[in-house]
Amino acid sequence: MLKQLENILKNFNEKIKSVKNPTELEEVKKVYAGKESPLNEVLKSMKSAAVEEKKAVGVKANEVKTHIFGHINSLNEKFKHEELKKQLENEKVDLSMPGLNLKMGSKHPLNLVIEEISDIFTELGFDMVAGTEYETDDFCFQKLNLPIGHPARDMQDTFYIDNNTVLRTHCTNMTARMLTDLSKLGAKEKNLAAISFGNVYRRDDDDATHSHQFMQIDGFAVGKKISFANLKWILEYMCKRLFSENTEIRMRPSYFPFTEPSVEVDITCITCQGKGCKICKFTGWIEILGSGLIAPEVIELNGLDPKEVGGLAFGIGVERVAMLKYGIKNIRDFYENDIKFLNQFKFFGN
Ligand SMILES: [Zn+2]
Repeated sequence: MLKQLENILKNFNEKIKSVKNPTELEEVKKVYAGKESPLNEVLKSMKSAAVEEKKAVGVKANEVKTHIFGHINSLNEKFKHEELKKQLENEKVDLSMPGLNLKMGSKHPLNLVIEEISDIFTELGFDMVAGTEYETDDFCFQKLNLPIGHPARDMQDTFYIDNNTVLRTHCTNMTARMLTDLSKLGAKEKNLAAISFGNVYRRDDDDATHSHQFMQIDGFAVGKKISFANLKWILEYMCKRLFSENTEIRMRPSYFPFTEPSVEVDITCITCQGKGCKICKFTGWIEILGSGLIAPEVIELNGLDPKEVGGLAFGIGVERVAMLKYGIKNIRDFYENDIKFLNQFKFFGN
């Protein structure tokens, strides 16, 4: 048996010398390290050998086995290493090749304004809600104190989908929806503050400052002790954050069907700092938004008790703010997706 083992070793050594690639190695492995290898045959026949011989053969067989497996493994490693080397050589980076010209996009100026205003109000504790642009007459008008036939509906020439459905003319539809939801909640304290934003549609004349589709941010807060002072503080804070610390606000009495009292809010002209220029028509002031305290009728129409709940509301034209903030003259620039126009906003808020 020892002789047999010597022969196996000799044959293996001769075979392994001629191995040149992994396929040939696999063949040798199959013959010398497989289940039916000559080594295994010898080990099987050991059962019938004498004890002394068993011992000597066992030691030798172990030596042969270690030798065979060791050689196969090291050759295997060598082939793997060569393969990897070849692969790395093929994938070598050519540093002389010209680089790719990656173009970075920029945020749209309207989105920049929305993000900025959302940040301000989120910090103040307002919720952000998404609304629907497709709205019932009920939530767009009736629950906001604009019954059918009300003359103020003319202020907002409306696109009707059918007799009862419109493309919303303001984001205030979400105020009606949330007040109605609040009335159904049955909570003891009726406190809620939220802003919604999105597209609104009106059949306004198209000119440089008006478009039939534009964006609004609408906000409201309701609670037991909401006052006009709260409204003034919130709007002043927002304008200072949005434009500059030196910005002052001025409130002028106005009319909106859903607020009482209602005010238009002006800010000191950001071009001339209030001194008077062409932009502000030499008044030093620029109109920026509409607001007021939510009318008791609106509170009632949405299922709440005006004796228990009061509220403030405001609506901001996103395009208007963006035009003032970035000095844009034509509202259509926002919708034409001219790369040259959009690229100017690369360094704002990105
Ligand atoms: Zn001015």
